[in-house]
Amino acid sequence: MTAGVRLVVLGKQGAGKGTQCVRLSHRYAVPHISTGDMLRAAVREQTELGLKAKTLMDSGQLLPDELIMGVVAERLGERDARTRGFLLDGFPRTIGQAEMLESTVAEAPLDCVIDLEVPTELVMNRLVSRRVCTACGAIYSTSQPPIHGWVCDNCGGEVIQRKDDTADAIMVRLQAYEKETRPLIEFYRDRGLLETIDGSEDPDSVFAVTVAIIKKRQADQSR
Ligand code: AMP
Repeated sequence: MTAGVRLVVLGKQGAGKGTQCVRLSHRYAVPHISTGDMLRAAVREQTELGLKAKTLMDSGQLLPDELIMGVVAERLGERDARTRGFLLDGFPRTIGQAEMLESTVAEAPLDCVIDLEVPTELVMNRLVSRRVCTACGAIYSTSQPPIHGWVCDNCGGEVIQRKDDTADAIMVRLQAYEKETRPLIEFYRDRGLLETIDGSEDPDSVFAVTVAIIKKRQADQSR
């Protein structure tokens, strides 16, 4: 069996984190832990967390750190994440979350942090045309829809436009990214974990570059 991996994937909304994480999770057989997907499921199921999260999410604002941290710590404590590793997509989003993650994974640290760099004009275009599967998180677009109507090719789930993929909510989310999340680039650069990848290339090329970087990191670690 292939080795697992322990990765954080950073990048603006629409940088391609979800698309790459779906592929990487198959390649390395590790769980794709997307806090956005977990929160959307909580909203659908109307759990206590979902009820607290809904308004903030619809308007594009971040949830307070204390609401999200327990959910992630619990997920990272599950057997698959402990034994094989994980891909974190959409977490951490603030320095407070990154510090919490650092202490949670202190015994088996991250392999690296991938930052997908994409110009803002490109992410705006990607986000307004984006469509997502409500069941498995697979990502489509109006120009590359599923084969049979808005039904997911992978799992048969319903493919929809997210409520926060509107021009207003996208602006709020990009501002939150600049203010709260961009400082993580320095945070991880200081720790020698950062790998910056051009996310404006096509998904196959981005995937190939990412896999090559992970391979090199893992080879360096085992020396
Ligand atoms: P995403 O699918 O990653 O774009 O997340 C959708 C929304 O969920 C965000 O706009 C936030 O409202 C919320 N969210 C997801 N992850 C986090 C996080 N790590 N911290 C705070 N809020 C989050």
